[in-house]
Amino acid sequence: MAATTPSVERAGNGVRSSAALNFLKASPKKLLIGGKWVPAKSGKTFETLNPATEEVLALIAEGDKADVDEAVKAARKAFEEGPWSKMGPHERARYLFKIADLIEQNADELAELETLDNGKAKTQARAIDIAGSAETFRYYGGWCTKIYGETNPSDPSMFNYTLREPVGVCGQIIPWNFPLLMAAWKIAPALAAGNTIILKPAETTPLTSLMLAQIIQEAELPPGVVNIITGAGATGAALVAHGDVDKIAFTGSTEVGKRIQRSAAGTKKKLTLELGGKAPNIVFEDAPIDQAIEGIINGIYFNQGHVCCAGSRLFVQESIVEPVIRKLRDRIGTLRVGNPLDKNTDVGAINSQAQLDKIREMVESGVDEGAEMFQSACALPTRGFWFAPTFFTGVSQSNRIAQEEIFGPVLSILTFRTAEEAIEKANNTPYGLSAGVWTEKGSRILKMAQKLRAGVIWANTYNKFDPTSPFGGFKESGFGREGGLHGLAPYVVLS
Ligand code: NAP
Ligand code: MG
Repeated sequence: MAATTPSVERAGNGVRSSAALNFLKASPKKLLIGGKWVPAKSGKTFETLNPATEEVLALIAEGDKADVDEAVKAARKAFEEGPWSKMGPHERARYLFKIADLIEQNADELAELETLDNGKAKTQARAIDIAGSAETFRYYGGWCTKIYGETNPSDPSMFNYTLREPVGVCGQIIPWNFPLLMAAWKIAPALAAGNTIILKPAETTPLTSLMLAQIIQEAELPPGVVNIITGAGATGAALVAHGDVDKIAFTGSTEVGKRIQRSAAGTKKKLTLELGGKAPNIVFEDAPIDQAIEGIINGIYFNQGHVCCAGSRLFVQESIVEPVIRKLRDRIGTLRVGNPLDKNTDVGAINSQAQLDKIREMVESGVDEGAEMFQSACALPTRGFWFAPTFFTGVSQSNRIAQEEIFGPVLSILTFRTAEEAIEKANNTPYGLSAGVWTEKGSRILKMAQKLRAGVIWANTYNKFDPTSPFGGFKESGFGREGGLHGLAPYVVLS
């Protein structure tokens, strides 16, 4: 990998927080193993870029199998020997609350780092990613003292009971679209249940996981309880292949999820997969239209469409197609695309050249297959990775843009006549992560929610999250849930 000197000062252009800048200056970044910051054994590093400028932000240690081995050893030791595994739940809870507090105290720096590394608008990073991460730690902190076993009503000659125990050493692999939030969704429930962790962040967005690791150090979690191994896909694969990992929790693409499933088959590992989506957002003629327009816009252009549950297929009832498309056209013209550090920005940069290439290829396929494209006429910066908010009309069910995840700011618009037709079309993809329904009729919402094959269904809103609510997929969107009580379950074994 290239050993260039990161142009931190320029890359940090516009950064107001000296803490974020200081964090970037301390490069190359190391791995956190057994409570110590160490370079990769191979000495290798890779670059993480600011996708809004293409400048190098920092050099990052590239962990490989040898480093994964060390991290698993540290996590195993911390799990078997304590003090973590022997600690009372009240004390464990205090660590999670402390981490939540420290995330809040460092919120501005974390938001800036997330924006620089990912390309997302900083105001959104602050309000959603960072605030949501703190809330997730606080929420699961509350669970530490509420994980009960049962006494079982068996034959009175026996005393028969169950315990809920931690699973053990958990390997956690996360994507780049909500880097800190995905780390929080993984780490917080695992810690609440008393597990130890090796987290592998995405190659293009390692920075906030590393700052979270600093926070975890500051909270004085015992060594080896949380280990962070940066690197590429191969690093994640080494974690999945490791013989002494008890559980793998993966969030990412369906393609990699299937590979992980094959690799973990026949081993002792428990597995949860949070994968891709192609969510339907269904608008009936009686919907509150202006509210629905905002929900559609938020559903697909928030976070540049890098959202697994993005409402990327819009189904509009035929009688209102014309006004909906007109309003959407007007509204996307008002979205401000550009410098993610600017507080007025609505849509930031695409996370990587590879993702930009994928979006372009999918958009070309839409044009080739005969759909009609409309794109915001906004001026895009000349450097960095950018894609203007786009929608397609005249889309058929069989078009690639109606079936495959684009993971960018591109909406496919289809139509329907009846609720039955909407359900049939909406369910007609390999995915089943989420869906939106817009209608004034409560009975219709309930009926749709029952028939839509998706793990999360929003009614008259979209992309709303709360740490108390389970999130996860049907079909090729994966299995297992994160969030709420159900998000704790994968980290607990019953004995
Ligand atoms: P990805 O390419 O599948 O990567 C996800 C993570 O897995 C990254 O850390 C990646 O490392 C690592 N990885 C790659 N190959 C691996 C392998 N063979 N074994 C183990 N780990 C491996 O996905 P992405 O592009 O980062 O994220 C976008 C996808 O995530 C979309 O499909 C999106 O829908 C999905 N997603 C789902 C949810 C959900 O909750 N359902 C939430 C967010 C995102 P590198 O980064 O180094 O390649
Ligand atoms: Mg980056």
